[in-house]
Amino acid sequence: MSTLRALAIDALKETGAIKECDVHTDVWLDNLDVGANEEAKAILMAQVQNEFLVATEDEVDQAIAEALTHYPDECGYCTDNMLD
Ligand SMILES: [Zn+2]
Repeated sequence: MSTLRALAIDALKETGAIKECDVHTDVWLDNLDVGANEEAKAILMAQVQNEFLVATEDEVDQAIAEALTHYPDECGYCTDNMLD
């Protein structure tokens, strides 16, 4: 995992853009909150400005979009339980 991707995931957790399932810990879900996604981007761009992170704005956008593709918006375990 690249540093940029790891920082993107941290930022997404920090802003609530991704959240843990209420029932299943360690299952992280896309909160479908565009505002929180933008806040996460702002966190990363601030790190770029502080020279803590070396990335272009495009790379930050891509890292956030790419990170979000790894999180479903519904917990698979909860969905399975609903089928019982
Ligand atoms: Zn769940």
